[in-house]
Amino acid sequence: MSLVVAKFGGTSVADYEAMHRCAKIIMDNPQTRVVVVSASSGVTNLLVELTQATINDERRLSLLKQIAQVQYTILDALGRPQQLCATIDALLSRISQLSEALVLDRSKQIMDELLSLGEQCSSQMFAAVLRELGEQATSFDVRQVMRTDSHFGKAEPQVDEISALAQTHLAPLLAEQRIVTQGFMGADEAGATTTLGRGGSDYSAALLAEALNADSVEIWTDVAGIYTTDPRLAPNATPIPEISFNEAAEMATFGAKVLHPATILPAVRQKIQVFVGSSKAPEQGGTWIRHQIEQAPVYRAVAVRRDQTLLNLHSLQMLHAQGFLAETFATLAKHKISVDLITTSEVNVAITLDKTGSDSSGHGLLSEALMQELSQHCRVRVEDKLALVAIIGNRIATTPGVCRRVFEVLETHNVRMICQGASPHNLCVLVSESEAAQVVHALHQNLFEG
Ligand code: ASP
Ligand code: MG
Repeated sequence: MSLVVAKFGGTSVADYEAMHRCAKIIMDNPQTRVVVVSASSGVTNLLVELTQATINDERRLSLLKQIAQVQYTILDALGRPQQLCATIDALLSRISQLSEALVLDRSKQIMDELLSLGEQCSSQMFAAVLRELGEQATSFDVRQVMRTDSHFGKAEPQVDEISALAQTHLAPLLAEQRIVTQGFMGADEAGATTTLGRGGSDYSAALLAEALNADSVEIWTDVAGIYTTDPRLAPNATPIPEISFNEAAEMATFGAKVLHPATILPAVRQKIQVFVGSSKAPEQGGTWIRHQIEQAPVYRAVAVRRDQTLLNLHSLQMLHAQGFLAETFATLAKHKISVDLITTSEVNVAITLDKTGSDSSGHGLLSEALMQELSQHCRVRVEDKLALVAIIGNRIATTPGVCRRVFEVLETHNVRMICQGASPHNLCVLVSESEAAQVVHALHQNLFEG
């Protein structure tokens, strides 16, 4: 039988009613055997705040109370089943314990266990909602199979081990029942809880789909698929029924928030199709991301990513020299920084940094240690308050006239950086953050509404 892995995001499991709607979606498809959930909406943010060094005791208690409130509202709607209440109470106590432990020991390992508890609660609750509706459903601790390295805050999944573990511990359970499990979290070899970085649940779902040889992954969120741009920026934006893996990867990377960028990787590796739709309005359909698509238009979408940092590195050593870029990238890699865009001149390199899926606890990328190390071989200038606007499509680098249509819109704006030519699927410009909305709107008009 073919297998579907369905993931429900925070807003989809925000409360009992939302969970109920999602349960119906699952029950409509007998092939949906694995369900991956995020923490209920807002809970991970509250947990992140609990990890901050700056909170006082009063704030800590207030955060604990807010987290408990979300859980108890759902438990109330379920009629407070005794066993489930005990399970949730134990998880809430654990949150409290760990938040206290952090006062003395600001260990990233403790932070990750704390951050994972939102998903632990929501998965228990969601399984209970399915059972209430008469389904055979059990919650499953994803740490049994989601093996990662020990890079707490943004752990790297170990794909081969995940496959082997999932075949042994998860696959045999699926014939009898639906399994509800946690996104975002995993465990390292020693069994310590890890997290995959903010927004990581999509990635979890895709990894499990890969491990179980699923036919498709469904990402249920609060929008009916991927749009030609954010409808809040361009009211005439329209949903995209079908898009290729390559285009979707560019979109996820360049700011379309509907999908965590890494989600595409396992899907591409195994050619697993991905569906993105709204759990509030499943009848509206959504976007299919596939390997083979029927239509590949030049212009597919405009994406925007705010809060961009540009690093400008200047060194006279670069003049006719070798190895400067290698050295720079080695330093960035050592500090776990992935580079997005890059342009070079004879003595300068400008790069933007990839912040997506940043560390779960939200720690900044530009640490003092990194800046110091870079300063040893070049002069570093940091610019921020920038936004990256990406025009995404097909044959962009080989279709005459694309640049003219893009730049006629940008006539009155300062373009800080342009990247084009590496990929047939995008053309990126860096503009001031304050102009981003206007630029996106104008580009959408010119490229899609003309
Ligand atoms: N709950 C986690 C977050 O808010 C993971 C996710 O929702 O994908 O980042
Ligand atoms: Mg999410």
